[in-house]
Amino acid sequence: MGFLGVDIGGTNVDFVLLDGDFRYLSSFKTAEVIGYVDDLIDSMAKKYNADRTGVGIAAWLKSRRIYRAPNLPVIPSLREEWIVENDANCFALYASKKLGYTNLLGLTVGTGIGTGVVIDRKIYRGRGFAGEMGHAIIEKSEVDCVCGRKGHIEANFGGWAIKRITGKNASEVDLNQIYSLEGFDVFCRGLAFAVMLMDFEAVVIGGRIGVRLQEQVLKKRVYSYLMPEFQPEIRILDDELAVAKGAALLAKDVVEYAEG
Ligand SMILES: [Zn+2]
Repeated sequence: MGFLGVDIGGTNVDFVLLDGDFRYLSSFKTAEVIGYVDDLIDSMAKKYNADRTGVGIAAWLKSRRIYRAPNLPVIPSLREEWIVENDANCFALYASKKLGYTNLLGLTVGTGIGTGVVIDRKIYRGRGFAGEMGHAIIEKSEVDCVCGRKGHIEANFGGWAIKRITGKNASEVDLNQIYSLEGFDVFCRGLAFAVMLMDFEAVVIGGRIGVRLQEQVLKKRVYSYLMPEFQPEIRILDDELAVAKGAALLAKDVVEYAEG
């Protein structure tokens, strides 16, 4: 059996196939394909004979319906038969399988900040939106967020926030400068709060900017806001295809669940 995994992100749309192991297929620019991404996914599924398709998307979802997608140019139409999931949830699920943690908090720090929660090796969704830490307020501020409100973690840290603060693309900003930003501290305090609430085994970070951060630096800063009894593993998962892989795993899990 083969499972197609798709990641619809703010910059790229990536495809992988899970067929025993993961195989990278191709990538497209989101801005160029978003208008017909449903046909594109359908044609890829047919080309590679996928039994089922999982789609990770940078959007807030409830019962597979998209409510918000502030980092996408438009909300794409997606098909009923696909397993559609928030991209950070896909990342967290893949991180759990790859690194072997039962309970974890997964974060993707790219243009924005996505969060996914895995409990007992499954995605925890709450009423649908669980894991939207990027839009939580750690410290009151008047900085506008992409979502339309103010002072959110994502408005202080993440790709577009770093660009606003430094005037440079986040990829060009020196790591020491990133660590010295007030926003980095806000981010670490947010992580520590989530750990105190859930006592996660691990916090796993990915995303274009996230993978540049160093585990030891994160540990030191996050631990400084934690009681000593709460010291989760802090790991970087450097895999640009982690979301697409998590989406393929979800598609596979659904088939196995139905058959089991
Ligand atoms: Zn926000």
